[in-house]
Amino acid sequence: MSIYWEKCDICGRHRPTRQCWLHPERSVCPYCCLACPERPQCPRPAWFPSLRRSASRRTMGVAETKSEAKKALEELLRKLEES
Ligand SMILES: [Zn+2]
Repeated sequence: MSIYWEKCDICGRHRPTRQCWLHPERSVCPYCCLACPERPQCPRPAWFPSLRRSASRRTMGVAETKSEAKKALEELLRKLEES
C-alpha cells in the first residue's frame, strides 16, 4: 500500500496518509488512524496494525495512546526523510 503526503480527511492536516480500510473514500493520517474509535473493530488498520495488537492487551489511557501515536509517527517521518 502506498503512502501519500496529502490532506487527511479527518483532521484536515497535510500528513502522510493512507486509505482507510473501513471507509475507503477517506485518507487518514497516522494520528487519526490510531485515535479512531473504530480501530478495535477494523480488520486492517491503515497505520501500524502491530500497535493495535499490543494496545488490545492492556487498557491504555488517552494520553498514553497519543504518545504512542506520536512516537510511531516520528519514527515514520524519520524513515520517510531517510529514503
Ligand atoms: Zn488526521
